[in-house]
Amino acid sequence: MKIPQDKLVLVTSALPYVNGECHIGHLRTYVPADIYVRMLRKMGYKVIFISGSDTHGTPIVLSAEAEGVTPEVVVERYHEHFKRIFKALNVNFDYYGRTDSVSNHKRTEEIVENLIAGGYVYKKKTKQAYCNTCGRFLPDRYVEGRCPYCGAIARGDECDQGCGKHLEPGEIEEPRCKICGSAAVFKEQEHFFFKLSAFAEFLASYLDTLGGTLNARNYAKEWVKRELRDWCITRNLEWGVKFPGRDDLVVYVWVDAPIGYISFTEELLRERGEKGDAWARYWKDNEATIIHFIGTDIIYHHCIFWPAMLKGAGYSLPSAVIASGMVKINGKTFSKSRGNVVWAAEFLERFHPDTLRYYIVTQSSHTKELDFSWDSFFMRVNNELVAILGNLAYRVLTFAYKNFGAVPGGEIEEEVKAAIETARDDVIRAMEDYEFKKLVDAAMGLADFGNSYFQREEPWHLIKGGESDRRRCATIIKNALQIMKSVCILLEPVMPEKMAEVWYQLGMKTDIHETKLEELMSPIEEGQKLNKPKMLFQRLN
Ligand SMILES: [Zn+2]
Ligand SMILES: [Zn+2]
Repeated sequence: MKIPQDKLVLVTSALPYVNGECHIGHLRTYVPADIYVRMLRKMGYKVIFISGSDTHGTPIVLSAEAEGVTPEVVVERYHEHFKRIFKALNVNFDYYGRTDSVSNHKRTEEIVENLIAGGYVYKKKTKQAYCNTCGRFLPDRYVEGRCPYCGAIARGDECDQGCGKHLEPGEIEEPRCKICGSAAVFKEQEHFFFKLSAFAEFLASYLDTLGGTLNARNYAKEWVKRELRDWCITRNLEWGVKFPGRDDLVVYVWVDAPIGYISFTEELLRERGEKGDAWARYWKDNEATIIHFIGTDIIYHHCIFWPAMLKGAGYSLPSAVIASGMVKINGKTFSKSRGNVVWAAEFLERFHPDTLRYYIVTQSSHTKELDFSWDSFFMRVNNELVAILGNLAYRVLTFAYKNFGAVPGGEIEEEVKAAIETARDDVIRAMEDYEFKKLVDAAMGLADFGNSYFQREEPWHLIKGGESDRRRCATIIKNALQIMKSVCILLEPVMPEKMAEVWYQLGMKTDIHETKLEELMSPIEEGQKLNKPKMLFQRLN
């Protein structure tokens, strides 16, 4: 999708559920979103980038009960944990909020009231799982049983091991209480429903125009074609956003979680000192392009439930949903309970964050499954970052530093200009297609070109020659430095720290993070002093 240049852009990354530590499966969404935002800024767009912790729902309440603490304690612990990981990885949100904030409570109440006023919410008696032993209703994760669609073991609200379908309260078969293990019964109780079925026609046409990746659009279209059942949007819980006028019910976590995108926008703009209704430019007045980065497991919520809710409440609609494929570890399904997991914190203790960022986007294309293995990680670092990129930077910069000390004079050659332009065009096309692997391939292709250019021209012979040989040598080095500078700009979104190091070695005085793509074609300045080169990456064994 091409974003109109004059529009504001709002990019969101799915909200991590703060009930445990960050693992590589999470990063599959956050790292590409951060790369996307950094590159949009390089392309000249005005972007805000937000995310936050998803703090409500039953898993957190269950964890808190098991530990004998309040949900706030669990939320606080992992909220801070995720913030630390994002900082370490240079995933730079403009704002990282949490859905239990005052403004998210207010915004959720307002939206639910709008939906009620619009006639999209109704009361209905419904069967709810109830535990006679514990004497309580068992919302969502409080109950386990069998999926009515595929027969797999399922959670109360989701067939997580089988077909992946969202389950409504009362749908699960052979329900058991998650707390005490006894068989649960179904009891009738009055709940509130969102009339999702009323949005079938709207969703069919909306999905036709929705940008983003095909996997998201196609999956959602299939759902709309089959059937849209109304959603039960209330739960018997203490922890959450109260349903308006009912002290005994909170709204389902999937109501207030995406509304976090709106309240975080409000919170950010308030923090920046903008007018009270500045957020409305993004969420009411269609002045912004709204782009959601999510994992494929929450397409249903983002492409069906969320736009219907926004439409019903009179809000702006997202323009694109970009869904990353799931992560496997050594070919096996990712599973925390089975120990088949790679924790972000452990990874970052051992390796540079940029190598992880690089790996995540190059190991597979964005919408495909990513199969993590240490072998493949080592190979990418050694064969690509060390052998191609690190090698180019070190060879060129060492030669230039030793023999010239500063950027020499000379024209940028036509073939070098052409190679840079091609790389730039390929990067922009990859951005429009959300092909982050192709984006890196284009930039690495330029580094590859740089290596062969340097090798072919043999500046180490020229430097020992006569006057004209030495002049030719200067031109070669000027061009090699220009290639290096361009590679730096193109790869900064992927490896911000490492590219800042090269930028410094090149003697650039500007901030690489603020540098726009326009800078690619402006010649590196003659006479600019170079700094002592250092190896960029270490071989891993
Ligand atoms: Zn199922
Ligand atoms: Zn029980």
